[in-house]
Amino acid sequence: LTDRLQQAFKGLKKKGKVTEADVREMMREIRLALLEADVNFKVVKDFTKRVSERAVGEEVLESLTPDQQIIKIVNEELTATLGEEAVPLNKSPKIPTIVMMVGLQGAGKTTFAGKLANFLKENEKARPLMIAGDVYRPAAIEQLKVIGQQLDVPVFDMGTEVSPVEIVRQGLEQAYQNKNDYVFIDTAGRLHVDEVLMDELSQIKALAQPNDILLVVDAMTGQDAVNVADSFNKQLDITGVVVTKLDGDTRGGAALSIRAVTGKPIKFVGTGEKLTDIEVFHPDRMANRILGMGDILTLVEKAQKDYDEKKAEELATKMKENTFDFNDFIEQLDQVMGMGPLEDLIKMIPGMNNVPGLDQLQIDPKDVERKKAIIYSMTPAERENPDLLSPSRRRRIAAGSGNSVVEVNRMIKQFNESRKMMQQMTKGKMPKGMDQMFG
Ligand code: GDP
Ligand code: MG
Repeated sequence: LTDRLQQAFKGLKKKGKVTEADVREMMREIRLALLEADVNFKVVKDFTKRVSERAVGEEVLESLTPDQQIIKIVNEELTATLGEEAVPLNKSPKIPTIVMMVGLQGAGKTTFAGKLANFLKENEKARPLMIAGDVYRPAAIEQLKVIGQQLDVPVFDMGTEVSPVEIVRQGLEQAYQNKNDYVFIDTAGRLHVDEVLMDELSQIKALAQPNDILLVVDAMTGQDAVNVADSFNKQLDITGVVVTKLDGDTRGGAALSIRAVTGKPIKFVGTGEKLTDIEVFHPDRMANRILGMGDILTLVEKAQKDYDEKKAEELATKMKENTFDFNDFIEQLDQVMGMGPLEDLIKMIPGMNNVPGLDQLQIDPKDVERKKAIIYSMTPAERENPDLLSPSRRRRIAAGSGNSVVEVNRMIKQFNESRKMMQQMTKGKMPKGMDQMFG
């Protein structure tokens, strides 16, 4: 997903202003990117429609940074589609709060029951009971018991010979007697949705009247996740979703579809095999994840991509010929800005996180904007030929860009230093004080 979107955004970045045709092209890329991330096609269609409507509006077309604007819109719409706020568990006014886990085999129900028990123990000092309702595989009961032992959480089981409904009935009785504040019902899954399973789950639901029925889905299931979620929701009227296996580089396209198709909130995510690998779901974070921004790996990728080697070569040639002008300077500024906070990038280099003076390396976006405003107030001839900048021209530029002449002079001085430095670099010498270029 990331690659595609970043390619598309990159195309925009160079242009300055965009046309409606550019926006259409962008939407095509976004559509493909979401489909590649296994977001359901109907969801994608609605989504891109909403984004396009906003994107052809003035806020993008008139913007100097259309790529940023479109990313912002995509991000906002993704967040809205995923649901605005983190939704907590439905608590019962009287203990116990009963939570039933449902989902296909291998989705992560049993593991999640343990994770949730651990999470609530730590955060609320809860005293949960887990009920082993998967009687089809002896290993499933054993698995829950092992988890219970690890967490010091009691597990109610009656082996494999008793019906799950009966186990749940007796398990609940025990919970009332022992005054457990939460009960987690672990249920069986199948490889596919089938009638027998749904019937059994409906019976457990009718008996236990759970406060929450959480559908546990594996983030790595592709387009099929939507159908699965849809059938579970239709049959059981689920109250929430848990997306597991959101570790590694799974992008979570499934989460987006499931939310859109069922309309039910995603409450938690599983991020690893350990019982502590559980997080409350935050739509904005997931949106970032789907977009592929906001995590370190991506930041590194970005830095590598933004360092466009061809550009650098072009610049080097220009330097040698001494034709480096303000247009190139703007491009250079944009490249550095596009990489995100320079400080963060440098810190990621092993051994660099404790280097003194690192905090002074920060690039102030406002300062970059000011420099750009000054350059935009120059005539095309002045941008291409910096030697034209006489004092009277400088005064005009200062007035036009809303800056003082001192600031204009400072910017031009920095430009000249940058130019000199680039020349040194092309001769193979490491320039002194790289940071001065933008500071
Ligand atoms: P169930 O059949 O729905 O009860 O699924 P299980 O809880 O038995 O989980 C199936 C497999 O997925 C097990 O190997 C778990 O360790 C693994 N698993 C569950 N949740 C996660 C998760 O969030 N991340 C990863 N990497 N593995 C998970
Ligand atoms: Mg299980």
